[in-house]
Amino acid sequence: MHLIHPAAKTLLGMPGFVYAWIILVVSLAFFSYIIFRRYRMIRAGQKDPRLDHIGSRSLDLLSYGFMQKRQPRYLWAGIMHIMIFWGFIVLGLRSIDLVTEGLGLPILRPLMQSGFGPVYNTLKDVFELVVLIACTWGILRRAIVKPERYRGSHQFEAYVVLCLISFLMITDMFFEGSALLLAGSSSMAGAWLPASQLATLVLPESDPGVLSAIHSWSYWLHVLSFFFFLNFLPLGKHFHIITALPNVFLRKRRKGALKPARWGVEDLEDLDYLGVEKLEDFTWKHILDLFSCTECGRCTDMCPADAIGRPLSPKMITIKLRDYGYDKFPLWKKASRDANGKLEEGHEPKIVGDLITDDEIWSCTTCGACEEECPIFIEYIDKIIDMRRHLIETSGNPKTFNQVLMHFEKTGNPFGKPASKRTEWIDEIEDTPVKVLKKGDDVDLLYFVDSYGSYDPRIQAISGAIVKGLHLAGIDFGILGPLEKDTGHQVRRMGEEGLFQFLMEENMETLKSIRFNRIITTDPHAFNTLKNDYPAPFKVFHYSQFFLTLIEKGRLKPTNRLTTKDIYTYHDPCYLGRHNEIYDEPRKLLRSLPGLQLVEMARSRDRSFCCGGGDIILWHEIENEDMRMADKRIQMAREAGANMIVTACPFCLIHFEDAIKTGGLEDEMGVVDLMELLISTV
Ligand code: SF4
Ligand code: SF4
Repeated sequence: MHLIHPAAKTLLGMPGFVYAWIILVVSLAFFSYIIFRRYRMIRAGQKDPRLDHIGSRSLDLLSYGFMQKRQPRYLWAGIMHIMIFWGFIVLGLRSIDLVTEGLGLPILRPLMQSGFGPVYNTLKDVFELVVLIACTWGILRRAIVKPERYRGSHQFEAYVVLCLISFLMITDMFFEGSALLLAGSSSMAGAWLPASQLATLVLPESDPGVLSAIHSWSYWLHVLSFFFFLNFLPLGKHFHIITALPNVFLRKRRKGALKPARWGVEDLEDLDYLGVEKLEDFTWKHILDLFSCTECGRCTDMCPADAIGRPLSPKMITIKLRDYGYDKFPLWKKASRDANGKLEEGHEPKIVGDLITDDEIWSCTTCGACEEECPIFIEYIDKIIDMRRHLIETSGNPKTFNQVLMHFEKTGNPFGKPASKRTEWIDEIEDTPVKVLKKGDDVDLLYFVDSYGSYDPRIQAISGAIVKGLHLAGIDFGILGPLEKDTGHQVRRMGEEGLFQFLMEENMETLKSIRFNRIITTDPHAFNTLKNDYPAPFKVFHYSQFFLTLIEKGRLKPTNRLTTKDIYTYHDPCYLGRHNEIYDEPRKLLRSLPGLQLVEMARSRDRSFCCGGGDIILWHEIENEDMRMADKRIQMAREAGANMIVTACPFCLIHFEDAIKTGGLEDEMGVVDLMELLISTV
């Protein structure tokens, strides 16, 4: 039987293709209008340069966007997502073919009738089944398993979209299945059509009239649901289907770095105010993030603050900001808002304080676990710091900060101690001369000790181990002593941008006055700031990197065997691991120590669990938490079978030592710094 295309038939006295054109024009008009309104929200944001390094951005797009590299971090959910994503790519072409044929513009027909046709049609039919299985799996997972990470997500919308995708698959299966039965043979010659064949099993083979109606209706329902779907996407969280790939392409490239107070503004004095007070103070890219979030909850699932019961869920920050943005920039003018989208005076909720509470903002340790996990690179730290900048600007910060900030300002360290005491720790070290540099001096290696390494008695011991190691390896090194000021890492992440700039400028002036080849630091935070926040291209190393090269070159030989029966585990500090991707060097260094038994915790490397924060948490306790992060991390170490935690960060050490003491675990658990461990073996 010769098949007539549904769009070539007459419906209610009009040729079908007229309906096809009406559907197309109306749908595209609505779609353009919605996108234009959404674009207004993006356009309201601040500058954010994102078009550098096009080559590596394109490679990222390929691997993280098209190849979905981060998806399998959650294995089964990731596989399901990849199935649907690739199904979309393959079946999108099919939908375009169906639509354009109906319009009387069969632009894809020559391609489909070429040698490509049977290959594509086979692929298309296989993917129809794959996508159908993945959608059913997705629906059942949400309905029965109910993963905790979906809490707070827009569940109804997710069901609607999964059902819509399934409906698109089923209508095409029925369209092609009925065609198979009516034509008596495959209209897609040479293709293997498992989905269409499956549909023929439930179609009334012996009734050509019903089959013909099914053939027509499945076509029109497919086209209608395709355009409905297109318009539904930008209304809610499934906008990510359109914006996720651009979001990956435009991702932040420098981990560990913070955005400036405002892009394009050199002098803070030129700004009326700092930070984010209203939605429009976020950058346009941060607003695009809001459109792109899939609400998968992976960020919150990995967030240590959420894990210990603090009032912070990164996913909910995005959801709240997006819902607020959609309300402020509605698709249709609301009676309650004026032409600029403003509510009546006094009725507009504040972003910081009302929508996102102070406790949420201060609960974040800037550990980066959320950003590492997000499949589409949604950014949190810059947004949170921007909100902190506003709180600091309006004196909304915890009162405990005031004295610390005053100390930083007056003395260049958080303790309020005089600069002259910055070198007192070297008096305690025997047989190890330490050069205290003056302006104009020349040295091979500059050891930037920073505040805790200079003043805190426990961390001074690590500084001592470092200079001892440098001395044994015959390195020409020196420290800045009274000329050094705190790098300002904590200050910047507290949101005190002005004070950070002051500390940075003072340090930069000193660093420019001395000739050196490279810098090493004790503290991953200082390392991160010198490397990523400071404007000069220093060769900065964390001590773990530097000492590994000394061992590899044979300049330092760890020969004394560790005789204890201790089982060690290495805790990746956030600012060494996630923010700077230094995972292997500390482990290699540990493995070079004779007699050391090393086990890995379940959460290690880029999934490391924050110790509680080397940043503001030192000066601000969050009351609303079930347990401390350090307690939870110690639990993880014990579960791995370790009784010694090795750290490479002074703040991790402080937090773990305190947690072991307050938990009464001194007989069962210990903590040691990597440098101290190394020096005990040479
Ligand atoms: S940076 Fe860390 S603490 Fe902050 S929201 Fe992300 S995962 Fe949570
Ligand atoms: S921010 Fe990323 S990880 Fe978090 S819910 Fe959204 S898409 Fe998922």
